[in-house]
Amino acid sequence: MNDLLKNVTAASLFKKLEAREVSAEELARAYLDRAETLKRLNAYVHLDADRILDQARAIDADRAAGKPLGPLAGVPVAIKDLLCVEKEPTTCGSRMLKDFRPPYDATVIKKLREAGAVLFGKTNMDEFAMGSSTETSFHGPTLNPWDETRIPGGSSGGSAAAVAADLAPVSLGSDTGGSIRQPAAVCGIVGLKPTYGRVSRFGLIAFASSLDQIGPFAHDLTDAALLLQAISGRDENDATSVDRPVPDYVASLDRKPDSLRIGVAREFFGEGLDPEVEAAVREAIRVYEKAGATIKDVSLPHTRYGIPAYYVVAPAECSSNLARYDGTIFGHRALDWSPKHPGEEELHPLVRMMMASRAEGFGAEVKRRIMLGTFALSAGYADQYYNQALKVRRLIRDDFDAAFKDVDVILGPTSPTPAFKLGERSKDLLAMYLSDVYTTTANLAGIPGLSVPCGLTKSGLPIGLQLLAPAFAEESLLRIARVFERETDWHLKRPELS
Ligand code: GLN
Repeated sequence: MNDLLKNVTAASLFKKLEAREVSAEELARAYLDRAETLKRLNAYVHLDADRILDQARAIDADRAAGKPLGPLAGVPVAIKDLLCVEKEPTTCGSRMLKDFRPPYDATVIKKLREAGAVLFGKTNMDEFAMGSSTETSFHGPTLNPWDETRIPGGSSGGSAAAVAADLAPVSLGSDTGGSIRQPAAVCGIVGLKPTYGRVSRFGLIAFASSLDQIGPFAHDLTDAALLLQAISGRDENDATSVDRPVPDYVASLDRKPDSLRIGVAREFFGEGLDPEVEAAVREAIRVYEKAGATIKDVSLPHTRYGIPAYYVVAPAECSSNLARYDGTIFGHRALDWSPKHPGEEELHPLVRMMMASRAEGFGAEVKRRIMLGTFALSAGYADQYYNQALKVRRLIRDDFDAAFKDVDVILGPTSPTPAFKLGERSKDLLAMYLSDVYTTTANLAGIPGLSVPCGLTKSGLPIGLQLLAPAFAEESLLRIARVFERETDWHLKRPELS
């Protein structure tokens, strides 16, 4: 490994860039070389070396000219392949969008450019962000850098693997039911899902609009705060983004938390929790106790309904969001739409074109979700499924509101197990869906959640600790997580890659 990239963070690289110890171009070249060496991990689905080097050189020129630069000037940031970057392929892990080049930047991308970041590769993901393993991608699976026979988590598996393998210092992902926190946990890095409305979703290809949020992956909390700071804030292009001041997450990070009351929800330690994961999380509780925290038992009684409610709400919204991919304006268009089944010859050719395009363009998991969602919303069934799920969603939110009256954060495991083997859960969908038992409730309630590394199993697989906080309490969430980071060195561990 190039020494330039050893044990670095975005903040440490920024210092070196400012001190002119390295140029943005040299740095970009080093990461491009490493991406080439570690191609087998399949973390990147698109890397435009010329464009990346041009951007890096432009930042070097600005720096040399003494122009005012943003807080990420020259730092490469990897981007999940569902965030629109002007004129670059944005495939969403799907054949449906394999030729899509957006004519505009997502707001978070615009903000990264303003901060001076070098937009690095587009990272692999589950198709349309539906999955927990990055195995449903049209580009094939991403491998976990800690054990290449295992999944990197999902759906933002490429973004997590890229940071874990030092293919980029930081990256962006999106989290609808756990897609930032779960891959962060199983790849041994930090992942933060902000409060719904903290970050603009404009230019994020929608999966489930009432749950989706964009957030950072990083090696430590300083970098996570740096990135969150850069992407947060009200955006007139996203009516659900909230007009609240963005605190200085970086400056406040090392201030002692105003209050350190930690809730331990008994529902997060149930059936299916791997004993090594449980032991690491219990050890984290002891770390907090020693650091002076008050530990309280809390209850989130509706947690067990999180997965069923999520798997109605998310597919319902996806069935509507994905209706636009029909081969007319958006997405893959089939060349052959001749009738294939009895009765189809009576359909209008346009309808057959749409049917054939959707049949070819979407993979099995996406089709399953569209069918589930369409059914859950259909006349006669909406009351039984969709409206029922919305009621459960309300109860889950009420659980959190009640619990947060007594505590500042709620602690538990991020994922019930460490990274599983590639292929292990692809045929057992319930097992796959249960990867998100501890993460979906935060999306349903709209609150922020953070995963930080808290251990390694005997066989060397990372374990993540999840901390949840009330809406818009990212600042205190980060400061409370920092207490743990300072007491431990799990965030310094990196996989050995040859
Ligand atoms: N794994 C969950 C799902 O399959 C969550 C995905 C996500 O957060 N995008 O829907």
